[in-house]
Formats: sequence, structure tokens, C-alpha cells
Amino acid sequence: MQDFFATNNQQQVLNRIFSLNLGLLCILDIDGWFKMVNISWEKTFGYTAEELSHSNIIDYAHPDDHDATAFVFSELLQTSHRLTFSNRFRSKDGSYRYIDWEFNRHDSYAYVAGTDITHTKLSAAGLKAVRNQLETSNIQNELEDLCPIRQKILVVDDSPLNTKIMETALIDDYEVLISHTGKEALNICNSSDPPDLILLDVIMPEIDGYEICRRLNHSPKTKDIPVIFLTSLTASKDIEFGLTLGAIDYITKPFSIPIIKAKIKNHLALKYYQDTLKINTDVDSLTQIANRRRFDEIMTLEIKKAKRTGTILSLLLLDIDHFKFYNDTYGHLEGDSCLKKVAATLAATLKRPKDLAARWGGEEFTCLLPNTNTKGAQNVAETLRAAIQNLSIPHLSSPVNDVVTVSIGVVSSDPLDENSLDNLLKHADASLYHAKEAGRNQIAIWRDFASTI
Ligand code: GH3
Ligand code: MG
Ligand code: MG
Repeated sequence: MQDFFATNNQQQVLNRIFSLNLGLLCILDIDGWFKMVNISWEKTFGYTAEELSHSNIIDYAHPDDHDATAFVFSELLQTSHRLTFSNRFRSKDGSYRYIDWEFNRHDSYAYVAGTDITHTKLSAAGLKAVRNQLETSNIQNELEDLCPIRQKILVVDDSPLNTKIMETALIDDYEVLISHTGKEALNICNSSDPPDLILLDVIMPEIDGYEICRRLNHSPKTKDIPVIFLTSLTASKDIEFGLTLGAIDYITKPFSIPIIKAKIKNHLALKYYQDTLKINTDVDSLTQIANRRRFDEIMTLEIKKAKRTGTILSLLLLDIDHFKFYNDTYGHLEGDSCLKKVAATLAATLKRPKDLAARWGGEEFTCLLPNTNTKGAQNVAETLRAAIQNLSIPHLSSPVNDVVTVSIGVVSSDPLDENSLDNLLKHADASLYHAKEAGRNQIAIWRDFASTI
């Protein structure tokens, strides 16, 4: 293990103390990693200083003592400077020894002394009593049920001790996901079921917390997930840097669990209302499919993506035939119900996850089909036209058919002509007009008549 103190004198004093036979002595950092151990560790457990140097104290606790150990550590971090407790610690040969621990915290380090009490044959019941005492003194659960759903928190920290502490503190109120690497955390955030909030350690091997936050903020898919940094970096420039990367909060260790829980509760309540608001601004209230605003947003993104990747983007514009007559015949309420059925059919018929059906306005709908060529778009359009006719919604005043039908304009971008992407809507509209002119209840493809215009 490396020298612990910056100056030689201090280090020599520490080395001398550590070389005396005083039982188990060690220094842990605030995350539970061993920084320095004395020779007794090798005598008692069989581990050399080198073997412990990249280890975390929680990893050696007996599985049944994990929670209690993590809890003691969290107490030490937030309220106490001195704590005593017992647990079972795993030796190199796999057996466990009962140890009485005394933890003293100074700044960001725990100075620990342990006494091997295995020989007193502490009964299992005795140990349990100690654990129970610790558990009943647990901080009372003060979160109230603000949100109707159980929200999900992702805890990202390379220290298993820290993740255990946070899991123990949060599990009663939230679904808690744990990740010990940045890569795994990013995968979880980009999955189809991302967390509602992230507690993020800063210093981690490979991808650090700042980089994770930067990447999350960079992607439209993950940029709205609130990030709270939880770190031992306390310099104001670190805090400022974290916040400029888009984190909503920055909590420094040693921390107070009640304060963290209160902050999480506030941020999650905000996130819940934002999500609700976002759903309302993205979804058409009558048909419950994407609205015009959402369509414009996704269309802009897909055009950019098609330009970048050279893929073909197709667009369908649909319009219900003689819908004015429908309303006049059956009334506006029936008209609304017809719009709902048509919208639901569009959404249910589109197959690919990236396809988007939206209400464009009135009785007009759009379907955005990324990475789809004209042939594919034509097939989708024909399937949709047939599906709507097959709904068999009576439309006796329609000159076209005795059931509700749609006309569809179909257009695909030309990868060799970047302008074609910017003209998709204009050309879809012209194609729709063409389909109407040609007698309705049919599709018209821009490519087939563009040269005649
Ligand atoms: P075309 O075949 O040429 O498309 O004829 P159309 O009657 O469908 O076209 P027009 O644009 O003349 O009429 C559209 C009608 O759609 C008029 C309007 O009352 C009706 N409409 C638009 N939005 C709604 C709505 O939210 N609910 C109901 N019930 N009707 C709507
Ligand atoms: Mg219309
Ligand atoms: Mg119409």
C-alpha cells in the first residue's frame, strides 16, 4: 500500500503505531476501501497488505452481516464520529471470525481498530441482538407517497459499500438499481426502461461520473433523467463543473441520509410532474397518439439522422375521405369516435419501433417511416388503407364507399438529393392531393408523378 501521509514524519509515526501489536488496525477511505493495514491482518485473517489494498471492507462481511455493516458505515458517515459494532469477517481460508470493531472518523477517513473475539464464542443470538439494535435505530422513513407509481433510482458507484448504503436507505420507497461501472449505467439509461433519477459517484475507473453525466445530457433519450452527484470531491470548482454538466444537485461526502432522501423526494416529485406534463404536450388528447408538436420534433431528428447516415426516410400523409359528410350525417361525437378508431388502427398497424403515427390536425394523420424505401412505404400505405377500410365504419353519405376510407400521399427521400428530405412534407401533401383527385380511397406515390408537375 502506498504511503498514507504526505510528509515523512507523519508517515513514520503512523508506521510505528501500525507496527506495534495493537490488534487489527486499518485506515479506510470514505467509500470503504482499505488504505492501510497493520501486520495483524495477515496474522488474523491471512491477507497481506497488498491483497487488501484494492479491496472494500463490505466484501469481507458475512452475507448475513452485510446490511448491518453498511448501515454502521452510513451512520458513521452522516452523524457519528465514533462507532463500535461487531460482525463476522471472512478469512483467507474462507472461515469467519467474530470481530469487535471501533470506527473513528476524521474528515474523509475511518480509522479502525478491531479485536478478534471469536474465542469468546459469541453466540449467534448475541450477534443478532447487536444487529437488531442497529436496525431498530434506523432512520425513520419520512417519505410520503407523493407519486402514484414506484419510481426507479439508479445508484452508480464503484464502491460496493456505498451502493449497499444507498440501497438500504432507499429500498423501502423506491425501486433501486445498482451499477458498479459507467458502461453498465449508460446501458441501463439507454434501455427501454430507464431510471427516474441517478445517484452518481464521480471518481470511478474507466468512465468517470462527469463523463457519464456528459453523455447522458448529450442524448435526447437520456437528457431528462435527473442526475445527482454523490462524491467526496468538495472543491467548489468540482461542484461547479458537475452542475455545468447538467447535474441537478451535487452532494458531498460525508453525507446525511435524511438530507439525501429529502432531496431525492423533491427531485423525483418534480420529475413525475415533468413526465406527466410531457405526456400531455406530446399526445393528442382525442386520439391518444402523438400530436403535431411531437411529430415535428421527431421529424426534425429523423431528417438529421437520415442526412447523417445516408438512409431513406419515408412519410405518409393520410386524410379521411369526405369526413365533413360523416360529421354531417352521424354528428361530431360519432366523428370523434371515428377519428379515435382510425388513429388506433394506424398505431397498431405500424410495426417497426421507430415508425411514428401522429395526428397532423383535423382528420389528417402522418406516419413517419425511418430507414424505409419507396417500395416499403408503398406496402405500409396500402396495408393502412386496407386496414381502415376493413374497420367497416359505416359512411353512407360518402360518394366513394359505404364505409370510412382514407386517401394517402406517399413520399420517400432520395439519398442522392439532400433537399428531398427538407421537401418531404410538401411532396407528401402534393401526393395526397393527387390521391384525392384520382378518386380517393387510394394511395399516390410522389415518385410516380413528380416529373409530370
Ligand atoms: P376530403 O375527402 O376532400 O378530405 O373531404 P373532407 O370532408 O374529409 O375534407 P374537409 O377538409 O372539407 O373536412 C374535414 C372535416 O373534418 C371538417 C371537420 O368538421 C372535420 N373535423 C376536423 N377535426 C375534427 C374533430 O376533431 N372531430 C370531428 N368530429 N370532426 C373533425
Ligand atoms: Mg382534410
Ligand atoms: Mg378529408
